[in-house]
This record gives sequence, structure tokens and C-alpha cells, in this order.
Amino acid sequence: MQPINTLKGQKPIVIAGPCSAESREQLLVTCDAIVRNGGVHLLRAGIWKPRTRPGTFEGVGEVGLEWLAEAGKRASLPTATEVASAKHVEAALRNGVEVVWLGARTTTNPFLVQEIAEAVAGTDLNVLIKNPMNPDIELWAGAVARMERCGVARERIGLIHRGFATSSAWKYRNEPMWHLVLDMQRKFPDMVLLCDPSHMCGCREYLQEVSQTAANMNYDGLIIESHICPSQALSDAAQQLTPDDLKVLLESVSWRAEQSSDEEYKRELALCREEIDQIDNELFDLLGRRMQVAERIGHIKKENGVVILQGGRWSSIVERIVGRSGELGLSEEFVRSVLYSIHAESIDHQNRILAGEE
Ligand code: PEP
Ligand code: MN
Repeated sequence: MQPINTLKGQKPIVIAGPCSAESREQLLVTCDAIVRNGGVHLLRAGIWKPRTRPGTFEGVGEVGLEWLAEAGKRASLPTATEVASAKHVEAALRNGVEVVWLGARTTTNPFLVQEIAEAVAGTDLNVLIKNPMNPDIELWAGAVARMERCGVARERIGLIHRGFATSSAWKYRNEPMWHLVLDMQRKFPDMVLLCDPSHMCGCREYLQEVSQTAANMNYDGLIIESHICPSQALSDAAQQLTPDDLKVLLESVSWRAEQSSDEEYKRELALCREEIDQIDNELFDLLGRRMQVAERIGHIKKENGVVILQGGRWSSIVERIVGRSGELGLSEEFVRSVLYSIHAESIDHQNRILAGEE
């Protein structure tokens, strides 16, 4: 297949298919229906499944690649599968797979990434790298670097954002942390970036909103799971869509152009940006002033020999401002995290005064 990055700009690039190849019939019937509904550029199926617990369905193994090759041939579409070792890469190559991806658990492990990079280098495979389980952009970027150092051409490397496993309770199975992916977009602006709403959400309910967010954030497309009968799926039953529901979802997402040459658009955007710059200036002027007052308090406390932290006062500030979050149109979580940062900076300023530095 041509380098995956030659598809950049042809939004949306869609990779769809079941979480796992389960049987020849399941795979062919699913892929035929997906293809009939249109809008899909590559067919996916998991052959070796990295499961959290042993004893659950761990994939059908190499025979599934023969079924995937058959599905691809019937549709005249390239195929994609997950690889977690050099052996998997070799089996994928034997069966005509054109795109392989590294799962989140694999990207986390530099030994496996290295082994796969060596197996992929010198072939025509394209390789998509999922974000690691933990929110560590360096690890993700490191996997890209490892591929390149082994000789995999940059145009043959792409990125998949599937969210991060974090300890905070979140409505999705994996927390998107979109801002981290912005850093990856900045590091690799020419690389295809896909979103995997299926593994991010872990359920069907939020697939649309996540897909639309990805489109709004200038992603190039989606990799998404579809099963002919999701309730019977041997893995990830709760998040898979029937091919018909997949069609509805794909048609509901609006993919935006990166730029517009419309003069009115440009003027309005420039005005809004000017206003944002102005507000940012005011915000930071105010924060600077707030810190000066905190420093005055530091001096007063120092002169009177009292501690910096006076718990009750701080909780009452938090309570008061968080109580206004609804009226301000801000999430409580955001208000708390801003207050937390302001407080940390304020304590730092006061500490320096008590230490006699200022
Ligand atoms: C998958 O794509 O089938 C998969 C296992 O995903 P992840 O590595 O994101 O969990
Ligand atoms: Mn899956």
C-alpha cells in the first residue's frame, strides 16, 4: 500500500471492522456489510488479543489472517491488524496485511516496540502507533522515534489516540486528555492522526460525541469497531456497532476544513483572536496583582509570627468560587484545578517571604 501519510488531507480516513476475528463467517459477513454501507477505507480485525485477564478470548491466531485477507480481497480494500511481536509482523506480512498497529499495552514497552520496528523496517507495511496506556507523551513519541531509527519511513507511520488509563473516575473507559494529543500534533504535524472512539468510550453511548470532537480537533479520521451482532461479540461487546449503526454514526460526524479563504470568516476569527489576546493579558495582570497581595499577607504573617496555611480561609475561597462555576459557565473540575494552581503559586510566594528571600 502507498504510504499512509499520502492519505492525509482526505478526511475522514476510516478503518473499521470487528474488535476480533472470531470465525470466518463472522468476519466476512461483518466486513461485507461494512463495505456495502460505504465510507470505509481499510478493514480491521484483531487476531491476537491482549487481554487484562487470562482465560478470556485471546484471539483466533494466524488462521484469522486468512479470513481477513479474504474479506479484503472481496472488498478490494487493504487490511489492518494489531501486532505485538516480530512473529506477528511476519504472519501479517505472509497474509497480505498492509497496515499494522501497536496496541496501547505494546507502545508502553520499549523492548516490544524495538522488536516490531526491526521487523517492520525494510517492508512496505504502514504502522500506526496507539498512545501508551499511561499519559506519557514522551513514551508515545519515543515509539515513533524507535520506528524511524530502525529505518521505517516517516510517511509510513501514523498515530492513534485511544485515551489514557487514569485513576480518576471518568465517564469514558479511558480519559481522552485531548490537550496531550495536541502536543503530539505539534511534534508530528505531517503524520496521520486517527481517533479510536471505541476503546476510548468502552460503550456505544459516547461514540458520536467523541468522534465529533476528534473531527473538530483536526484529526484525520477514525478507527472504529463494528460487529455483525455486537451482543454476541467475544471481546468488547459493549462498544461495537452493527455495520448499519456505524453508517449512521459516520454520516453524523461533520469533518471540518482546516482553513477557509472566506473573507468574512477571516475577519471574524481575527476579531475573536484579538479579544482572546486582550482577555489573556487582563487575566495575567490580575493574577500578578493577586500574587502581590498574597505577598503583602506573607509580610504581615511574618511580622506576627503566624503560619502560612490557614485552612479555613482557603476552603471558604474554594467553596465561594466553585459555587459560582455554574453561573460562569465553567466546569467545577476546571475551577478547582485553576484555584489549586493559584494557591500553589501563592504559597510559594509566601514561603519565600517567610524564608527571608524577599
Ligand atoms: C484494539 O484496537 O483492538 C485494542 C486492543 O486496542 P487498545 O490497544 O487501544 O486497547
Ligand atoms: Mn477491541
